[in-house]
Amino acid sequence: MSQNLANVQRLVIKIGSALLVEQESGALHRTWLNALADDVAALVRRGVEVMIVSSGAIAVGRRHLGFTQPTLRLEENQAAAATGQIRLAHAYQETLARHDITVAQILLTLDDTEERRRHLNARATMSTLLRLGTVPVINENDTVATSEIRFGDNDRLAARVAAMMNADALILLSDIEGLYSADPRQNLEAAFIPEVPVITAAIEAMAGAPPTGHSSGGMVTKLAAARIAVGAGCRMAIADGRIMNPLAAIEAGGRATWFLSQVEPRTARKRYIAGSLKPSGSLVVDAGALKALRGGKSLLPAGVTAVEGAFQRGDAVTVRTAEGAEIGRGLAAYGADEARRIIGHKSREIEAILGYRGREELIHRDDLALTEGSRS
Ligand code: GLU
Repeated sequence: MSQNLANVQRLVIKIGSALLVEQESGALHRTWLNALADDVAALVRRGVEVMIVSSGAIAVGRRHLGFTQPTLRLEENQAAAATGQIRLAHAYQETLARHDITVAQILLTLDDTEERRRHLNARATMSTLLRLGTVPVINENDTVATSEIRFGDNDRLAARVAAMMNADALILLSDIEGLYSADPRQNLEAAFIPEVPVITAAIEAMAGAPPTGHSSGGMVTKLAAARIAVGAGCRMAIADGRIMNPLAAIEAGGRATWFLSQVEPRTARKRYIAGSLKPSGSLVVDAGALKALRGGKSLLPAGVTAVEGAFQRGDAVTVRTAEGAEIGRGLAAYGADEARRIIGHKSREIEAILGYRGREELIHRDDLALTEGSRS
């Protein structure tokens, strides 16, 4: 087993259109998909949480709608995506049902992964789905995409999902084998690069220009994805998916370019929370809560004595003691007004106070970075 997949707990797999869809007829490659599902099922059985980011909606849908012209207008692409997505999701549902695995469809935009309130919701939903043992199948929500649908956007979307979900590995399966020192179609001397410890300018230069053709964003978008993933503590592989059981092949040490990450996903997320966000308020905690936080627990409303500032759900806030010492920063699960109403109360009282059943914690431990050294 390859070292790079052996200890993976949470894995994102991105599947390019060219692998899934027969370009002329728009038919799905069922045999290939079944074999891929067998690989996914083997991972799930050994406890790996798997998320699939799949392209192919447009490629499937355009044939159904009878579009034969080589380039489509934005709204035609969106219509094709809407038609194809339902078929794509159904195919995943059917093939994973053979292994008693439930599939959940998630449609996201890149903005959803950036905007913190939506980010928090998407993350909570996907965490719940993973906890329940389902496999989320994710695609870009092409209907509401505001700019041209660019092939290759799913490479970045997959990397954003991997970052958002603290995945430890991302595998991009496409019709590209991996990174070469030069374009292998033009240069016979081009050497395959199996491992990229750091994305340097020399590595960037190897990506060259994106190829023409509709199935792949080429190496440029894959490198962009690698930067996002690696920065979030997630290692990433580019591998050729045009074989049967491509994931099993990677596990067996098959050819792939691995971009390594220098930090753990949790550490990377905590650094982001601690360093990059401007706090818009603070929560003052009592001694009991302080002890719980130092022990790696979430911040519950019961341990908060005061709420300062105006912030909304998902905004960054500082956490501090009554004496004013900052002990950490986190993303608030409630806006300031709601937080003021529930502090000092038990989590089970939240529903009666707010009229709906929200999160139990004011800041979830995964969204909290303690300033002092701690086990959080
Ligand atoms: N969302 C598009 C589709 O499913 C694909 C975008 C991409 O390949 O990057 O057809």
